[in-house]
Parts: sequence; structure tokens; C-alpha cells
Amino acid sequence: MMETVEIKDKKFSLYISESEIKEEVKKMAAAISSDLEGKRPIFLVILNGSFIFAADLLREISIPCEMKFMRVASYEGTNSTGNVTEVLGLDESIEERTVVIVEDIIDSGTTMNELLKILERRSPAEIRIASLLVKPKNLKVKLEIDYRCFDIENDFIVGYGLDYNQEGRNLKEIYKITD
Ligand code: 5GP
Ligand code: MG
Repeated sequence: MMETVEIKDKKFSLYISESEIKEEVKKMAAAISSDLEGKRPIFLVILNGSFIFAADLLREISIPCEMKFMRVASYEGTNSTGNVTEVLGLDESIEERTVVIVEDIIDSGTTMNELLKILERRSPAEIRIASLLVKPKNLKVKLEIDYRCFDIENDFIVGYGLDYNQEGRNLKEIYKITD
């Protein structure tokens, strides 16, 4: 386990260890498995950032479920609400299904808010949010986040699927930028 890492022009220090992550991911999986028993949920994995989190979380889910993958891109529009487009679309129906969105991090909440709008148009029975990380002090929209592993400060982080300019996703731990 490295205490500090350098990625491109930035330095990062260890923030959340691999064992802490594993423990919280397991707890989340247990809570979801218990809450959604009998509902055959669809886990909707939001690429790219959540691919490692999703792989760990979903292997700890103990109830029948499906997995689908979606990629979104957010653009800062001229207005402050932002705009999210479906890059890799969801081809199959989610009508009348319980959907669990699996996301790496919720920062301002804009991406999630837009994604909820897109998904609600497809008439699911219920949508739940499962995010590895949340920056509560930066949330700009009202979101009900059903499951989360860690609340963190507003610092930029990398590792465990999250990147800095496309690098650092393969780090086993989560690192925080140093000033
Ligand atoms: P939001 O729309 O909630 O402001 O931003 C969500 C997206 O911003 C995340 O899915 C992620 O791609 C990116 N993001 C926000 N904070 C961080 C961070 O600290 N590190 C990394 N790597 N990405 C972040
Ligand atoms: Mg993301």
C-alpha cells in the first residue's frame, strides 16, 4: 500500500484503504440484498468510474438480480443546471422494474439528477441510488441517496475506478489530492 502517488502533474495521498472500502461495500451489499429481496432489481452501472465498485458490490449481492451498463457524459451548458446525455444507451426496458443506480461519486448531484429524469421517462417501478462516495457539502440539488459507503470532503480523489485525466483507475485504494 502506497502512502502517496503521483499521477501526471499531481500528487495524491492515501485517503481510504482497500480494507475499509471492502468492508463498507459489503455492508452496502447486505443492506441492498435485504431491502430488495424478492424484487429482482436491475443494477444499472454507470460507466466508467463505477466499474470496480460495481464489480465488488455485485459479487456481494445475495439475491437474484440483473445488471445493465450505461455511460453518460455531462456537459456544462450555458445554464447552471448542466446537461447529461446518454452516451451508451440503455437498450432494454426497465418498465415496472426496481432499478438501483450504481455510481462512483456524487459531487454536485447534477449528473444523478439528470440521469433520474432520463430513467423516470421509462416508467420503472422504483429507482434507488447506490453511490460509493458522496461530497455532501457540494450537493446542489435535492437527492435522496439510498445507499452510500463514504461521505467525503470536497477534495478531488482518485483510485478504485476513479481517474485523474484517465489515469489512476487501477489503484486499489482511494487517494486524495494534496495541495
Ligand atoms: P456531479 O454531477 O455530481 O457534480 O459530478 C459527478 C461526476 O463528476 C462523477 O461521476 C465523476 O465523474 C466526477 N467527479 C466528481 N468528483 C470527483 C472526484 O473527486 N474525483 C474524480 N475522479 N471524479 C469526480
Ligand atoms: Mg460517475
